[in-house]
Amino acid sequence: MDLFAKIKEVTELQAISGHEGPVRSYLRDKMTPLVDEVKTDGLGGIWGIRDNQETDAPTILVGAHMDEVGFMVSHIEANGTLRVVEIGGWNPLTISAQRFTLYTREGAHIPVISGAVPPHFLRGAGGQSLPSAGDIVFDAGFTDKEEAESFGVRPGDVIIPWSETILSANKRHIMGKSWDNRYGVLMVAELLEHLKGQDLPNRLVAGANVQEEVGLRGAKVSANLFDPELFFAVDCSPAGDVYGNQGKVGDGTLIRFYDPGHLMLPNMKDFLLTTAEEAGIKYQYYCAKGGTDAGAAHMQNKGIPSTTIGVCARYIHTHQTLYAMDDFLEAQAFLQAIVKKLDRSTVDTITTY
Ligand SMILES: [Zn+2]
Repeated sequence: MDLFAKIKEVTELQAISGHEGPVRSYLRDKMTPLVDEVKTDGLGGIWGIRDNQETDAPTILVGAHMDEVGFMVSHIEANGTLRVVEIGGWNPLTISAQRFTLYTREGAHIPVISGAVPPHFLRGAGGQSLPSAGDIVFDAGFTDKEEAESFGVRPGDVIIPWSETILSANKRHIMGKSWDNRYGVLMVAELLEHLKGQDLPNRLVAGANVQEEVGLRGAKVSANLFDPELFFAVDCSPAGDVYGNQGKVGDGTLIRFYDPGHLMLPNMKDFLLTTAEEAGIKYQYYCAKGGTDAGAAHMQNKGIPSTTIGVCARYIHTHQTLYAMDDFLEAQAFLQAIVKKLDRSTVDTITTY
């Protein structure tokens, strides 16, 4: 399978916070033949463990997150249309006139579109104010509430973006949904595949958290469960090359030295920069406005030095994101180099003050 086919497979899966089942199944299938044990945490995070016979081998946790942003049915109107609450952060301007899939409890997949006010109705009306997600109509074409219920639709059902993942004309970029964070999910699967049959100087736990998009919730659970000495979030950040400043698609993996919930510590920065230089990795500095699971994990237990191994993508948290396959390859080579280098003495260097 070529890289585009792998990316298409994982980004077209539909899974929002708390409802990560399809991505969990994907990872379970990929990881089971590659690790000594597959384990789930209490909220549904899934982890592949590469054991180590050395008693003082450090435990390293590498975690993506499985969830993407979407919606949940809050109630059904008498006319059969749906109203929603947002799951994860959305720009209200990108919600309307899109396609989604509603999943019922019985497992039916129902096509849904998000409504938009036609320009005809705006003429002379003084323009439209910015809608909030709760005001936007979601429409599955039901005649009335009773018909919606007869198809199994209930409050609490999830509504997940649908878009086809396609290649750009120059075959270097990809357009589609949920690179945040199927990027990380594919990174973990590819890392374990690459490490198959190779000895490691650590006990590696690699997998994916749940519920990142609603406040970094799963990362607290997995950090407690595995009590690693270091944690590496693997996540996708917004590119600033068309809006903003830092983060250019195609300029390589990110050295994410600052975000509002996490500071890269000096020992970690030294380790990352040295490793990137040694391995010839293309990297760029990145100062973030959002957060990743590193922000939650690093404050667990007795304190877990953490960072994020990232790439950037344009227009994230929408149906149509744009990103570079080359950036994925740089990040993957970087993560491989990092994991292979983390023996007892290297970890001690990072965690000693
Ligand atoms: Zn996100």
